[in-house]
Amino acid sequence: MDSNTLTSISSFYPPQRTLMGPGPSEIHPRVFSAMGRPTIGYLDPVFVKMMDELKELLRYAFQTSNALTFPVSGPGSVSMEMCFVNMVSPGDKVIVCRNGVFGARMIENVQRCGGTAIVVEDAMGSPVDPNKVEEAFRNNPEAKILAFVHAETSTGVASDAKTLAEIAHRYDAYTIVDTVTSLAGIPVLVDEWGVDAVYSGSQKCLSCTPGLSPITFSDRVVEYVKSRKTPVQSWFMDITLLLGYWGDTTRTYHHTAPTNALYSLHEALVMLREEGLEAAWARHQRNHKALRAGLETLGLNFLVEEPYRLPQMNAVHVMPGLDEAEVRRRLLAEFNIEIGAGLGTLAGKIWRFGIMGYSCKMENVMLCLCALESMFDDMGAKIEIGAAEAAAYHAYAAHPTRGKGMRAVA
Ligand SMILES: *Cc1c(COP(=O)(O)O)cnc(C)c1O
Repeated sequence: MDSNTLTSISSFYPPQRTLMGPGPSEIHPRVFSAMGRPTIGYLDPVFVKMMDELKELLRYAFQTSNALTFPVSGPGSVSMEMCFVNMVSPGDKVIVCRNGVFGARMIENVQRCGGTAIVVEDAMGSPVDPNKVEEAFRNNPEAKILAFVHAETSTGVASDAKTLAEIAHRYDAYTIVDTVTSLAGIPVLVDEWGVDAVYSGSQKCLSCTPGLSPITFSDRVVEYVKSRKTPVQSWFMDITLLLGYWGDTTRTYHHTAPTNALYSLHEALVMLREEGLEAAWARHQRNHKALRAGLETLGLNFLVEEPYRLPQMNAVHVMPGLDEAEVRRRLLAEFNIEIGAGLGTLAGKIWRFGIMGYSCKMENVMLCLCALESMFDDMGAKIEIGAAEAAAYHAYAAHPTRGKGMRAVA
């Protein structure tokens, strides 16, 4: 880079977007402002007290009393890897469910840990089939772990975590569950389901700045990892070492915690507690019903069958005759709206509308439908202007708000 290029660089001012993709989601001003508070040391007694509150707030979000519950300093992918690296030793058999992009990443994690992945395959857009999981255990009763994605963001499908966990229990296997997109959007009940290693992400329904990932481990997993014969291959992700910083008894240096990012997670979780988990789930359902009414009025069909749809991630087939990428490009350029594209085999075939966390609100739903109508009409599709918004608006009227809603706590 020559010096002229360098001097021409000045402060970065990103545009204000309406974020309706697969994450990151929009962030409440309270969460942003928390991030700008003074940086203090990661062993400062004031900071340590905030860490204890964070752990307590995360236990609420995960509905667990697990002692080892904390935010990993890294995105959801680091948390995913943390589970596998700690729990899979070379030679271990792991049953992994693949019904989308993130299940495929789990398989790769198992293999890189030297384990053997027994893959349970379901189509993109279908939930994990519990019968196939049962069969995989019958054929591989020595499998130590069952790993699955609760909310597959690549397709917008929810799998039945409770039933899958029950099968794992019958075969005395541990469970690794990806709740990156589900946490705070639909019920995630760690203790009630009896799941063992559960991770999430800060930037989806928690609506916090990207780069952190909440995680929780059952006591039996902690004991299991402590009793490993070979050390965990990764120094950074070894939970037995992380316990020295995030555990209940000691606070010693492990790595420099991302202090300011953790303030923002603390604030996002305080807001979740103020709203209430149940009210947050209800808000996602309510906005989903309205968005769905509008999208279907536009003639767009959902990829996922109704009982398995995630309210926070709405995948629809592209409207025949329209240029899939052009629609997304114009939404961003003309309306400042980001939506998601299809991944893998669904590339070019679906659009994904995310309404996660603070992005899950009436004005986003209505703006998005209005933008789609104007554009579809302009691109020559046969639609009735105003019909999608009317359908969405009526859906809101049919499902009045319960609880305060995230907007009201501003
Ligand atoms: C987003 C996502 C991840 C990865 O999280 P990053 O923060 O992007 O690393 C993992 N699993 C699912 C289901 C996701 O939606």
